[in-house]
Amino acid sequence: MSDPKALTDDEWRERLTPDQYHVLREAGTERAFTGQYDEHFEAGSYRCAGCGELLFESDAKYGSGCGWPAFTRPAQSDAVEERRDISHGMIRTEVLCNKCGGHLGHVFPDGPPDQGGIRYCINSLSLDFEEKE
Ligand code: FE
Repeated sequence: MSDPKALTDDEWRERLTPDQYHVLREAGTERAFTGQYDEHFEAGSYRCAGCGELLFESDAKYGSGCGWPAFTRPAQSDAVEERRDISHGMIRTEVLCNKCGGHLGHVFPDGPPDQGGIRYCINSLSLDFEEKE
């Protein structure tokens, strides 16, 4: 895909399931403890479900107990974009795929202190897992 940011809304609806569309394109949130990667700790890579970009590696994933996949860092610093989000009466930092602009989740300053202290709280619906060979 050349530039996924150029896709139209109709094209996104064709590419994604309704649940993926809601999270990635409407900044929705899957219900806690329901996502397929919440309690998933296989070795491999997590790619954007919207555009396929490599976003997170399994060695940065940890069991935060928060109900969504949690990572201490992205695969590359420029894989994700962070943006201030004041929706729902909270001040949070939204995390988006840098390549397609899809909503991934939020970042919180309560990650493991010995690994940077940051928690990337990411919807399973925004991710596709690729097992390490
Ligand atoms: Fe993407």
